[in-house]
Amino acid sequence: MKSFSKNARRITAAAIALLLQQAVATPLVFPYNFRTATKTISVKSVESTVERGSAIVRIQPGDSLTQIAADYGVRVKSIMWATGIKKDQLKPGMLVRVPLVAVVENNITKLPPGVFVHEVESGETLSTIARRYGLSIIELISANPYTSSLDRMKEGDRLFIPSAQRGLIVKIKPGQDLVSLAEFYGVDVGQVAKANNATLPSDLSEGDYVLLPGVMAEGTLEALNTRRQNEIENRKKRELLERYQRYLVFVKRKKQQQYERYLAFLEEKKERKAREAELAKQQAIEEARQQAIAREQARKAEARAAVLAKQRQQQQAALAQQARAARRSTSKTSVVRTSFDSKPAASTGFQWPMRSFTITSGYGRRGFWIGSSNFHTGVDMGAPTGTPIYAASSGRITASGWGSYGINVFVSNGNMRVIYGHMSRTAVQVGQYVDRGDLLGYVGCTGICTGPHLHFEVQIGGSHVNPYNYLP
Ligand SMILES: [Zn+2]
Repeated sequence: MKSFSKNARRITAAAIALLLQQAVATPLVFPYNFRTATKTISVKSVESTVERGSAIVRIQPGDSLTQIAADYGVRVKSIMWATGIKKDQLKPGMLVRVPLVAVVENNITKLPPGVFVHEVESGETLSTIARRYGLSIIELISANPYTSSLDRMKEGDRLFIPSAQRGLIVKIKPGQDLVSLAEFYGVDVGQVAKANNATLPSDLSEGDYVLLPGVMAEGTLEALNTRRQNEIENRKKRELLERYQRYLVFVKRKKQQQYERYLAFLEEKKERKAREAELAKQQAIEEARQQAIAREQARKAEARAAVLAKQRQQQQAALAQQARAARRSTSKTSVVRTSFDSKPAASTGFQWPMRSFTITSGYGRRGFWIGSSNFHTGVDMGAPTGTPIYAASSGRITASGWGSYGINVFVSNGNMRVIYGHMSRTAVQVGQYVDRGDLLGYVGCTGICTGPHLHFEVQIGGSHVNPYNYLP
């Protein structure tokens, strides 16, 4: 990089590092301090416009308002107004009031002679400010090495403006003094002392600003440029990173959606399988039920067949007995009973239906009976017309009046039916319940009949059986 003056020196990399370190560590507050050739005036801190302070300055021979105003960085008119004087009234020994508008730090700091502060105005840039004070940009930057950004100057920022000698302006840090700084930057100590109006190294102390004549902060400019470049690159990187992160988020969301669809698919599959399993289960239950029904039907059919077989067996046994009885009755056609067992049969609960009668025809086969079935389904008991007939067993009257056996009465009980036939008249009504021994009607000869008698018949399940098996 080109030097700007004959005395300009390049700053070493270490110096740049130090400067940048200071720039980072030091907030950009520029303390005000005003130094005239004759004395240093310290002023109280002024925090707000309401409490603006002012400095009282004794006029020395040769002083002018313009010079004082420039020294304090205020307008001439402000001093005149605050003091209440006109310009030509200024005399040595006189006190003037300098209104101060700037914030001053409590600890006293010194600015090198000829250096004043410029407050950045709206629209100003480093180059316009440099041009305004006849400085090169590097000279301006050298006076303000702590400037953090070339692009971030804003209204109210304060810049040091060197009006006499140009050089690097640095703040004295703990442990530093004029001598060490001069050595560090490779400048003659005498020149530094002269530039800073110091006769002793102790004239300047920690926190004061020192001007190092001829030292140019080329590195600072470079660093600032680099920093600006880096900022641009970092912004690009950041944007790229953000785009990449957005892309990652997009990809992640996409994957999430895919995964959720997959989960939904699995869930659906599971549900379908469950539905199918449930259906199969119900089908199995239904089949089992149908099989149970079929088994039950088969069992019932078997039971019915067994009952029928038993009935047939009983019937055959009855037929055999009937045949025997018939054989007996052909040899002895009538049985006279003039007395009967008044006690009912212990096994069946039957009693004889009449007190006096003659058995004229037994149960069973009787080949000689012309014009009729050759099987007698009951027992015929001959008695005079009007002889009372009593219920042989209890039951409900299910027929009373003309029927298959002339005027007859049916007494039903469960699957048993007892028939009393050929009556002259009945003494009961259908629906009535009768006990054993109750009067049912009277002997007659209605229907197919050859003489007054009672046809007494017992049926089980609609089939006639041998009444002798029930009677006592
Ligand atoms: Zn008969």
